[in-house]
Amino acid sequence: MIELRQITKVYNAGKANEFKALHGIDLSIATNSVTVLTGPSGSGKTTLLSVIGCMARPTTGRIMIDGQETTSLPETFMARVRRSTFGFVFQDHNLIKGISVLENTMLPAYPGGEPFKPLRNRAMAILDRLDIAHKADRRSNELSGGERQRASIARALINDPAVVIADEPTAHLDTGLTGSFLEIVSDLAARGKTLLIASHDPLVYQSDAVGRVLEMRDGKLLGDKQSMS
Ligand code: ADP
Ligand code: MG
Repeated sequence: MIELRQITKVYNAGKANEFKALHGIDLSIATNSVTVLTGPSGSGKTTLLSVIGCMARPTTGRIMIDGQETTSLPETFMARVRRSTFGFVFQDHNLIKGISVLENTMLPAYPGGEPFKPLRNRAMAILDRLDIAHKADRRSNELSGGERQRASIARALINDPAVVIADEPTAHLDTGLTGSFLEIVSDLAARGKTLLIASHDPLVYQSDAVGRVLEMRDGKLLGDKQSMS
């Protein structure tokens, strides 16, 4: 369970270009749910994902993850929560170009200090599940868009996170690949993961894989459309 209480985020506080990107967000996200944040560009989706995922601190307010407050944790502890709880899938995938798909997948696990061989086996098993093990030795820049996305999902899963955060994951995908992505979402939900996705793609927020759609506008949450299914 993730709980947000009165979360605000102010960029460039005290400067001429000060901007309030989040205005007092209250939100509870149930464990093992699939939630989509929708809303126009600039409405605060990425900002909200990054404060939930411990990538940025809110300006005010509290976030609790399974009862533990993360907002006031010192940076090293916050980094540990980020690494152990969250996996991130980005719009542009953010894979490192010169190294292989396998190495990209293993990278977020290195700070954990796991021996190479079991880590490698685990990474290969995840790549296999995502149907991309045959490209494990390829450099990430040699992959197609869909393959790159599956590699970035593999990387997000390497630390077996409870929560997968995906920011505009289908922005560069065609309809078929978007369908494949949504199948992966359903599979992860069936495996007990919590998914939090920012997307203004109707194929995503209208999908049966999604349980809850939250609309953002001007840094506020508007509606909450619980799925009927
Ligand atoms: P979305 O993901 O919905 O497009 P964002 O969270 O990226 O929205 O941005 C929300 C608002 O905050 C936008 O107006 C954006 O320009 C502003 N913003 C985002 N990041 C920064 C930053 N690092 N510095 C200043 N303003 C920012
Ligand atoms: Mg965004």
